[in-house]
Amino acid sequence: MNASQFREAAHAAIEEIIQYYETLPSRPVLSTVTPGYLRPLLPSGPPQTGEAWPAIQADIERVIMPGLTHWQSPKFMAFYPASSTFPGMLGELYSAAFTAPAFNWLCSPAVTELETVVLDWVAQLLGLPECYLSKGEGGGVIQGSASEAIVTVMVAARERFVMRRFAEMEEGEEKERKMGEMRARLVALGSEHAHSSTQKAANIAGTRHRPVPAPKDTGFSMTGAALRKTIKECKSQGLEPFYLTATLGTTATCAIDDFEGIAEVIKDYPDIWVHVDAAYAGAALVCPEYQHLTKHFDKFDSFNFNMHKWLLTNFDASCLYIKHRKSLTSALSITPSYLRTPFSDTGLVTDYRDWQIPLGRRFRALKIWFVLRSYGIEGLQSHIRRHVQLGELFHSLLLTRPDLFVVLTGPAFALTVLAVRPKGWTKDGRRPSVTRADRPDPAHEAYLNDFTADAEARYKADSNAATQAVYERVNGSGELFLTSGIADGTYCIRVVSANPMAEEKYLRRAFEVLVKEAEAVVGTKEDE
Ligand code: PLP
Repeated sequence: MNASQFREAAHAAIEEIIQYYETLPSRPVLSTVTPGYLRPLLPSGPPQTGEAWPAIQADIERVIMPGLTHWQSPKFMAFYPASSTFPGMLGELYSAAFTAPAFNWLCSPAVTELETVVLDWVAQLLGLPECYLSKGEGGGVIQGSASEAIVTVMVAARERFVMRRFAEMEEGEEKERKMGEMRARLVALGSEHAHSSTQKAANIAGTRHRPVPAPKDTGFSMTGAALRKTIKECKSQGLEPFYLTATLGTTATCAIDDFEGIAEVIKDYPDIWVHVDAAYAGAALVCPEYQHLTKHFDKFDSFNFNMHKWLLTNFDASCLYIKHRKSLTSALSITPSYLRTPFSDTGLVTDYRDWQIPLGRRFRALKIWFVLRSYGIEGLQSHIRRHVQLGELFHSLLLTRPDLFVVLTGPAFALTVLAVRPKGWTKDGRRPSVTRADRPDPAHEAYLNDFTADAEARYKADSNAATQAVYERVNGSGELFLTSGIADGTYCIRVVSANPMAEEKYLRRAFEVLVKEAEAVVGTKEDE
């Protein structure tokens, strides 16, 4: 493809992309293909001679489109969003144009320096403590995902812990042996609701993992007391807690761990590295009304959030901040002679290869820069506030039908988690409202005193069955895409109003669809 063919092809591709975005609301959000749909649509191997762009482009609609789940559709209210915007796409385009795996400062000074600057901008925007800025001992780096960020800091935490324990010991085989023994006793902690990436990171880092209980009565939030208890239990088993994930916005319910309580406990265990995983909800910190949440972050070691989830930046852009960058680079830096430069050796420049797992890296700072400049602080704030308001609206709609729905958590950061009220139970969700021949009289004193636990279990089983049925019907309708979850043994449906194309009319429609399917499963008011 020469330059003039590229011009023509690129124009045609951009036109098609714009049209795609314009028609998104009218497309079914979920793909309906069956596994293996794609191979029969393609030849058995690549073409012998090159094809012209129009033939290649035509296959986007024919081959790819049927197999896409449209994450950018306003009817996509599942998982957490994966933002996409035109400025973000332009950043990706230039990044592809300049392709340079800029592992060293010298490999493209602009790639490194823009990353340092925009990550400082973002840290200030989020109200992170100064210790995470590059002007001191800290700084930020763009990773591909929150999972990658977590495994990276966990390795740094492991090495810091072991190094500190044997700092005084003379180098040699004995030290190496003892350090190896210590590594085998390390245990990474995270609340039971921390994202599974913490457990996965522990598997990769070769350490154990223990969940800290975060039950329903604490709003699924990990408390300092629960953390202390788990640390003590680990220690009594001869294990060494070395790392903790504290979450700002858990995946299932957007719960926030008790940062103040955690900071208090950690005073007694200063060798435990505390990482704050704010993958989704961290974006809300652009609004000053959420920044009180960062109050204790200066006592922790690292923080990450994904701009590609809720902050208008195309995948991938996970911002990781470290309080002491030396802890990271001393764990990850291996500098063979071919990677040495006079600037790196004198410590004048940042070599981001020492802040991450791979050597090469993409120019991701460009899209962040474009997004920050295109929207401005005010644009980003109103984006978040609009979604939070839509979450509140959706929640208020749910409250109009207490006969059908129970709100389990939220609205929190544009996420509401609900369950369907099973048929035949009163609004307090505890006792059947009707007396049946095979069940005790629910109004009888003996029932209330003696059968409550059983009634709760039966309520939960009925609720789970009804919620699952409604969930499957909603997604099967093709009108919406939601995800389900389990919180405290309760099957629940998550509704997220943080899609860049979200609007009031789509949330109202989501409510209508939920009502329709819930009535089909548990009956209408009149049936009671
Ligand atoms: N942490 C939290 C709280 C999440 O909600 C998620 C995903 O939704 C992750 C981590 C994993 O994110 P990633 O796909 O960037 O690894």
